[in-house]
Amino acid sequence: MSDRFFVDGPLDLGDVTLTGPEAHHLTAVRRFAVGDIVTLFNGDGREHRARVVEIGKKSVALQVTGVESPNRELGFSLHVASALPKGDRGDFLIEKLTELGVTDFTPLETQRGIVKASEAKADKLRRAVIEASKQCGRNFLMLVHSPARWLDWCRAQSGRRLIAHPGDPEAQARDSAGASLALRALPSFDASDRVTIAVGPEGGFSEQELQAARAAGWEMLALGPRILRVETAAVAAAAVLGLTRKP
Ligand code: SAH
Repeated sequence: MSDRFFVDGPLDLGDVTLTGPEAHHLTAVRRFAVGDIVTLFNGDGREHRARVVEIGKKSVALQVTGVESPNRELGFSLHVASALPKGDRGDFLIEKLTELGVTDFTPLETQRGIVKASEAKADKLRRAVIEASKQCGRNFLMLVHSPARWLDWCRAQSGRRLIAHPGDPEAQARDSAGASLALRALPSFDASDRVTIAVGPEGGFSEQELQAARAAGWEMLALGPRILRVETAAVAAAAVLGLTRKP
């Protein structure tokens, strides 16, 4: 289990006080004691080695003794915009995208979407990013943007833009490589490129929404001959683009 804790504020060598849920996690859940060494991060790309100095009722005093900047990022901007799946599957989606190194996430409002993407929900997702970053060792937080309405948002984006949409199943079945064909067809990109992947709701994007995306220059991305759930499609696309394409 991770010994990493998130500090919502500036971090440097010297004294730092941990409060709120992170202090509770360190003492009551993980049962760290005075003298123990933990890692602190605040999302600025660095991580800090710190010694527990004093444990109070609602706070923990630590002393930062070392700072490092290990590179655990993809090296290019990978933005996933997705309709939110129901219930806990939204948190699952955020956890996996954070682990995979996705840099930005935008919750989408779509015509057939069932789950409303509110600002309160975005805040909950931001908390899930922190939890996943504690576990996976990321020192930059995946940025969760405010919810956006697909029809307006898709027209305002630039860079390489891919919209995940189930393709012609027969055409895909004929190709033994399945989705990888569509992905191989993508030209390589460099570190200055921004890649955006959009995923629709359980009911799929509407014809109007697909049409608007095509007109705005989005490319269609097929992910094999089966219908994937929202979170599977988002994670699969992020994994293929994030893990196989080097800037
Ligand atoms: N009934 C819907 C399926 C929606 S699945 C339809 O036929 O469109 C939810 C979302 O996951 C889709 O909008 C799409 O963005 C993505 N998705 C699911 N399966 C996919 C596949 N095989 N290829 C590409 N995208 C897929």
